[in-house]
Amino acid sequence: MDMKIPFYEEYRDKIRCRICPHNCILDEGKFGICGVRTLKNNVPVAINYGGVTSMGVDPIEKKPLYHFKPSKNILSLGSFGCNMTCSFCQNYEISQGKPETQYMSVEKLIDIIPKVENNAGVAFTYNEPFMWYEYIYDAAKSIKENNPDTSVVVVTNGYINEEPLLKLIPYVDAMNIDLKGYTSRYYNKICGARLEPVLETIKIANKYCHVEITTLLVSDENDSIEETREIAKFIASVNENIPFHLSRYFPRYKMDNAETRIDTITQAQNEAKRYLKHVYVGNVEGVDNNTYCSKCNELIIRRNGYSTEILMKENKCEKCGEDIYL
Ligand code: SF4
Repeated sequence: MDMKIPFYEEYRDKIRCRICPHNCILDEGKFGICGVRTLKNNVPVAINYGGVTSMGVDPIEKKPLYHFKPSKNILSLGSFGCNMTCSFCQNYEISQGKPETQYMSVEKLIDIIPKVENNAGVAFTYNEPFMWYEYIYDAAKSIKENNPDTSVVVVTNGYINEEPLLKLIPYVDAMNIDLKGYTSRYYNKICGARLEPVLETIKIANKYCHVEITTLLVSDENDSIEETREIAKFIASVNENIPFHLSRYFPRYKMDNAETRIDTITQAQNEAKRYLKHVYVGNVEGVDNNTYCSKCNELIIRRNGYSTEILMKENKCEKCGEDIYL
């Protein structure tokens, strides 16, 4: 379904979209980089409003969010479209294509959420949620106005302009933001975007909601210890409590570099822990992904795969009383 874009401006007899830092000039019948916004009868519209391509119930740890409502499930859904073109994309059928969708009204979504067992709320994920901005804004606002206890989660690449971000974020409880690397070269060459706007999104998000960050370490591209150190230092400069997920890459889509070495991930984790309180590893079996108190090292949350056991009360370490970032 089409929906008018809420952020645009006239630009030399044309219309420029202002949702994300690409700031595409929209032409009649031609799409912006995201593949979902265009001009129809001189009106700028997104064509994916309410169009769902994927929906399921996941452990919230799978987003990944390790310090937000641990052990809960979360209703997860996405549409199509993305404003990045990552060579390693795992969801390229929905990020780069225009697959079939099922329409779901905001009212229907709100109706489904309480029917999910042990549910924290709803996560907008799978494709880039900000490319579904018109729908997730309406849904998130309505969810929070109807039931503030229902959590709204956004799993995003963080590539959005400040104005639309600030309009949406009062209705968002938690975000997992990809920080895909720490060089302009990597963002330009591998992702078709720029680094700086993502850093700005992380800084803004940290002021308004719970934030966790994920970096996919791609062999021979962004897996140097120096780059991990720079990422960890940046995150720590925003908030040293932000949980950091280092994820192992496997060949996908257009990228055929070898899978990331496990010892590379382990070394990166150790380096990041010098700056951050909680650093986890994704896509590697059998690693210790428990949460420990950053002050006394007491076990706080035990994780075995997606089975999660919470060993504290009221977000404090049982042994030393340290506040845990949850
Ligand atoms: S949202 Fe889409 S059309 Fe708008 S600026 Fe970003 S990529 Fe371009």
